[in-house]
Amino acid sequence: RKESLREIAELPSVTQDGKRIELKANISSLKELDVALRNGASGVGLLRTEFLYIDRTTLPKEEEQFEVYKAAAEKLTGKPLVIRSLDIGGDKDVNFLPLPEEENPALGYRAIRISLDRRDLFKTQLKAILRASHYGNVKLMYPMISSLEEVRKANEVLALAKKELTAAGQPFKADIEVGIMIEVPAAAAIADLLAEEVDFFSIGTNDLVQYVLAVDRMNESIAHLYDPYHPAVIRLLRQTAEAALRSGIPVSVCGELAGDPLALPIWLGLGINELSMSVQTLLPLKECLLASSENDGKETVELALACRTSDEIRELLESRRSISA
Ligand code: PEP
Ligand code: MG
Repeated sequence: RKESLREIAELPSVTQDGKRIELKANISSLKELDVALRNGASGVGLLRTEFLYIDRTTLPKEEEQFEVYKAAAEKLTGKPLVIRSLDIGGDKDVNFLPLPEEENPALGYRAIRISLDRRDLFKTQLKAILRASHYGNVKLMYPMISSLEEVRKANEVLALAKKELTAAGQPFKADIEVGIMIEVPAAAAIADLLAEEVDFFSIGTNDLVQYVLAVDRMNESIAHLYDPYHPAVIRLLRQTAEAALRSGIPVSVCGELAGDPLALPIWLGLGINELSMSVQTLLPLKECLLASSENDGKETVELALACRTSDEIRELLESRRSISA
């Protein structure tokens, strides 16, 4: 079985009815990038940059970050590399910043909120990412966006970073693509507005599910309520995908759900043609993709949207899975 999975790493990732779906990797280190490429990833849809900041007492300097981002960009030889700006706080702790003890860390001081508060730290990271963009197909992504103002403020810091690099004679891709995570329900609700001001969306189902259902993704005692197949989730997914398609910007999924075979018809049906997942999931998911069909997906999504409960949705997806795979 392992052998046959290896073989499909080389095959084009298309459905039975000829729809090409980009299968990309979520990585948190350069080492994982090697595995991603071995497993046939057509790029990196999410580089979690936290590893550069975690387990150390000082901030990583621009040069150190640049070297890592550049190495990743070069290794990808032109394939896309989406670098997400720092997403600490919540469940991801660091030593160099004394993060406050919070009643509700997931609703607290985290991700883009920290970056917009600590612009020095944010600008340093943006400069490193911009410099790396000279060496490959690098895109920038902001996490935990919940409003247009946040996008605009982040872009102001980006503009400043560009200005400083230009003044210093450092090369970078001036029109680097800038996208956002859709992982806060507010962002999904205003996806049409956000789509007008960014270059791409990536749906973070891990947090989206946690926030829309008010279920802490780390809390074992309510794990049974953490349900990616809740009808509310499917509605937000559709709303986000439709907003992106209408504005003509690409939309991908980079939460764990992207690698769940059960969810595959939903992506196909919603017109999402890019999935980014953990490196171990790439080949098993691809195996399902090769046996699936976009047309089935369209029907499945319509049926799923008419379901009233998660159980109904799961049952539907289980029964449809046997049709296409
Ligand atoms: C997500 O929230 O779905 C996501 C991909 O980001 P992370 O898991 O790093 O929070
Ligand atoms: Mg997230």
